[in-house]
This record gives sequence, C-alpha cells and structure tokens, in this order.
Amino acid sequence: MNNENLNKKGGISVETAHIFPVIKKWLYSEKDIFLREIVSNACDAVTKLRRLSSLGQYDGGDEAYRVDVTVDKTAKTLTVSDNGIGMTGEELDRYICQIALSGALEFMEKYEGENTGNGIIGHFGLGFYSSFMVSDCVELITKSYTDSPALHWTCNAEGEYETEAGERAGHGTTVIMHISDEEAAYLEKHKIEEILEKYCAFMPVEIYFTAEDDGAEEKKDGDKEPEAPKPVNDTTPLWLKNPSDCTPEEYKEFYRKVFHDWREPLFWIHVNADYPLNFRGILYFPKLTNEYESIEGQVKLYYNQVFVADNIKEVIPEYLLMLKGVLDCPELPLNVSRSYLQNNTYVSKVSAHIVKKVADKLNSLCNTAREEYEKVWNDIRTFVEYACMRDRKFYDRVKDSLLVELTDGKFLTTADYLEGAKETHENTVYYASDKAAQAQYISMFEAQNMQVALFEKQLDPQFLSMLEAYTPEVKYVRIDADVAGALKADGDVTENKALAELFVKVSGNEKLQVEFAPLKDTGVPTLLTISEQSRRMEEMMKLYSMGGMSMGEYPTEATLTVNTASPLIAKLETMDEQKRETTVAYLYQLSLLSQKKLSAEELQKFLSDSYSVLDLL
Ligand code: ADP
Repeated sequence: MNNENLNKKGGISVETAHIFPVIKKWLYSEKDIFLREIVSNACDAVTKLRRLSSLGQYDGGDEAYRVDVTVDKTAKTLTVSDNGIGMTGEELDRYICQIALSGALEFMEKYEGENTGNGIIGHFGLGFYSSFMVSDCVELITKSYTDSPALHWTCNAEGEYETEAGERAGHGTTVIMHISDEEAAYLEKHKIEEILEKYCAFMPVEIYFTAEDDGAEEKKDGDKEPEAPKPVNDTTPLWLKNPSDCTPEEYKEFYRKVFHDWREPLFWIHVNADYPLNFRGILYFPKLTNEYESIEGQVKLYYNQVFVADNIKEVIPEYLLMLKGVLDCPELPLNVSRSYLQNNTYVSKVSAHIVKKVADKLNSLCNTAREEYEKVWNDIRTFVEYACMRDRKFYDRVKDSLLVELTDGKFLTTADYLEGAKETHENTVYYASDKAAQAQYISMFEAQNMQVALFEKQLDPQFLSMLEAYTPEVKYVRIDADVAGALKADGDVTENKALAELFVKVSGNEKLQVEFAPLKDTGVPTLLTISEQSRRMEEMMKLYSMGGMSMGEYPTEATLTVNTASPLIAKLETMDEQKRETTVAYLYQLSLLSQKKLSAEELQKFLSDSYSVLDLL
C-alpha cells in the first residue's frame, strides 16, 4: 500500500485563504447550484467508468451505476454518493486539492468583480468547492476502481484539510456535506427535491433520493409497504432520441412533465443539429388562453443534460422567448459572462439555427398541414407577427406562410387573397379592425362578394405598417376608410350643394367633406369614411397621447358619401325644411354610429335626435 498520500495535512496557501468566506457569500441567490455541481461530478465519475468499461479497460459485470443523494436532518448532513471511477490518493491530491481548488480560485478571481452572479452563465467552474457555500465541513470518502485503497479526506470551513485511510466497500466517491446552521434549509426534504428536479432531472445516471428521518416517520405509519425507490431523473431525455422515433404522445408527455402545463402545446420542433453546431433540443409553441397572457415562455438550457439556466436571451432571440422547451448545448462556453456570449459566434449561429428551424416549421405546416396550421393560426399569430416585426430575416423566411383571417372565418395567405380579389379590386387588402363595430361595412362588402380580412389584435396596426413597408405594392385599407371607392356603382353623379352644406352644419365639423355618388348598396343613405392615412395618424397620436384629441372628438379629415342611389336621400327633397334638417342630422348620427363607438356627448345627441325623429312619424 502506498502511504504517500495518507495522513497528509494541508492548508490553503495565503493567497487562497480567503476562498471560503468568499465562496460562502458567492452567488447568494443561486446557492442551490452547489448540489448540481456535486451531483454532476458524481455522474461524470460514473460516465468515466462506463467509458472505461466500453473500452474494455474495466469489467464491472452487470453493475448498476447510480448516484445516491441522502439528507439526514439529525446528523445535519447532505450526502452524495456514486459508484463511479473513484480517486486514488494521487488523483485526490491533484484533482481536489490542486486542480479543483485552483479552478474555483480562477473562477472567483475572474468574476468576483461581477458580484451579482447574474452575469455568469450557469456558474460552471466553481465545481467541487461550491459545496462550501453551504457547509462547515466537507468529507470525501473515495475508492478508485483500481485496487488503490479507500481514502478519507476532510476539509473545514477554514480550508484546512486532512487525508486519512478510509473505508468504502466498493469503488466510487461519497461526499458528505456538513450543512452549516445558517443553511439548514438544505436539510429539508422538499428543498432538496426541488433542486434535484430543477438541475438534475435529466442527468445521465440514475439518481436516488432519500430523506433519512422522513423514512422513519413513514415506517411508523406502518400501513403500507414502502414502494420500490424510483430514480428522480430521466436518464434518456426525449431530446436525445431520434425525432423519427418519437411519437406525438411522447412529446406531449414530456411537455407536461417538464413545464407542468396541462394545456397541450400547439406544435413542437425537435432540433437535432450535428457538427459543427452540435446541439439538440425540443421547442414547443405553447397554447395561450388569451392575447394578454404573459408571453414569457421557458426555454431551459442544458449542458450535457445538466440544467444551466432558463431563458438565456443570448441563445434564443428575445422575440422567440415565448417558446417553451429544452436546449442541450454541449459546445456552449458556459463559464463566461453574458456580454461574452453576446459576441460569441457559436452562440449567434445556434440562435440563427433556431430561428431558421422555427420558420421552417411554420412553412412546412402551412404547405403540408394547412388545416392544422389554420387551427392554430390565431394562437400563434401574435408571436409570428411580433417576430416578423423584430427580425426582417425571420419575416423573409415566413412571409409566404402568413395567414389572413377573413370575416367569414376562412384563412388565406395574402397572395391568395389578392388573387381572389382580382375581379373587384387590385392590390388592396380590405380589413376590419373590429368585427362588431364595423358590422355594417362588413355586410356591405360581403354583399358585393368582397372578402374582408380581420386585423383585430393589438399589434396589428404596427404589423400592417410593417407589411406596407416591406411590400409597398400592396395596400391595407380598413373597410371604413375607402368604402365609397370600393362600393361605388356606375351612374351619374348629381351634386347637391345645399344638402352638402346642411350635412356640414349638422355635423358641427366645418372640414367635413361631402361627396355624392351612387353606391351599390342602396339601403345605406350616407357613409362616413376617414382616410386610412389620417386615421392611422390619429391612432398614433392617441397611442403616444401627443394630440389633444379626446376619444369623442372626430377626426377632421372625414368624408361623408351621400348615396344618390338611395331612395331615402331622394325623399329628402320632398320634405319641409325642418323635417329635412332633423332627418339629415339623424342620418349623420347613424353614419357616425356605424363607424365607431360614440362618445358620451355624441350618444346623448343621438338619443335626443332619435326622439325628434320619432316625433316626425
Ligand atoms: P470539474 O468537475 O469542473 O472538473 P470540480 O471542482 O467539480 O471541477 O472537480 C475537480 C475534479 O475532481 C474533477 O474533474 C474530477 O476529476 C474530480 N472529482 C470531483 N468529484 C468526483 C467524484 N465524485 N468522483 C471522482 N472524481 C471526482
């Protein structure tokens, strides 16, 4: 037996003497990661032994590899034990006393200035010594898979360590963390379960968790046999499988398990990027209940099945952050700050690849699963439109798969809409922004077999401006903005100056334009239109509350089209002056009413005019 490494005492050098107090304070909000570091070391130790075994350099028979996490509230210990490769005395000295320590030190030096911890992705690098964030003392009992004897290493919070002969039945390593009083929370069963679920759910070696005193309580109940323990993790997560071997049910099940979302995802994308990107993942489009629900998704980033962080904006473009999913990027330089990631070409390639995959998925749904695509369109359109607005490249990729919903419930691409509209109008998409308020206009258009698109969402006005900027040849016109143009019938136009003046007078708007034209729908005596441009201007001003315009005040650039084909308009000529004025005022109110929601004053005026009209009967 080689005694060289036994009964060895050591102290941390002067330069490193501060490491423990600093580690203890370090990353306060994310202390939980110490367990990830220790458990992933344990998994690595098993993976190394498995590799040796597959290379024929070790024969473990049908040994079941595992990691055991045990919390003992009475003893105040949290223990992580593996039956992996273990360490010889020389390895212990090199890896733990020198390399691990210097790794931790280097990490601290590099990032101490960034203090918040948020700056560093994943906090990898702290490694084994992160256990001192929560412990007064850490023991390590290890036995190499070779025939080296077992060793027992103990290190206190001051960084003084000691190595003695140890006792361990088989190969592997046991790390016993003596949890400090301030960190007693890490002796709670639920706390450890929570951390294991968050960070270790997909680690590649089976992990078993036991809470010592908890078990004792259960036994006291005595009424049921304890169940055979199950690992707390899934060692072969779905993203590692070949997409063609995965069933929709498996994808949904995985989604439910990982995101605890009872709503089915709309669809998903299984990314399997080979060299040189080399990353895998599954991204889901979640189902949202309404437009205003928070669109914060959750994309969990893993590094070789070890959880690193949620929603790393550098990896997933911000406009796709409503996606839910998992990404495993073994190539990602994790032990770096966010600013480093922002300028990292690998990261931007991963991000671009994801964007491309999302666009490809939308295109393939549109082209090969149109029915399904139409069904989800209203759920995803806000995402898609937003993404288009944020990223021209994304827009260019998906532009042919952007659907337009029509007032009759159909879905068309813009190209199909324009193709179908050729007979009645060219290069103009007529749309409604409020199905109820603009019902009158919609029915007039539909009566003329003209299709009306629906752009009712909050984001739509900006989205339309974007579309017009990208495709200037296509105009988007709200149906109440050019209704006369769209619905004008052939026939002579007879101007009636006196009537025009009367309309201006009753409207109280001196700038009101009055024009005369026969319309296809003779049942509508007058129509109010506000040009698309001036309405959008008003909307913008309202949005940024620049103008002093109150909601009730009417935009000045309004045109009233008097339908010369309407019998009611013809009838005005037969009325006496007072009756005509009352009727004209009332017609104006009706045009306002079918155009927008009346203000309080307008509504009052409308009601009193209605009574006057009734009086005329
Ligand atoms: P890292 O895991 O990033 O290399 P750590 O500080 O966590 O850094 O560990 C340093 C080294 O100590 C590891 O690379 C490994 O060689 C050794 N080590 C740590 N934990 C174990 C373990 N459970 N079994 C075997 N070796 C271990």
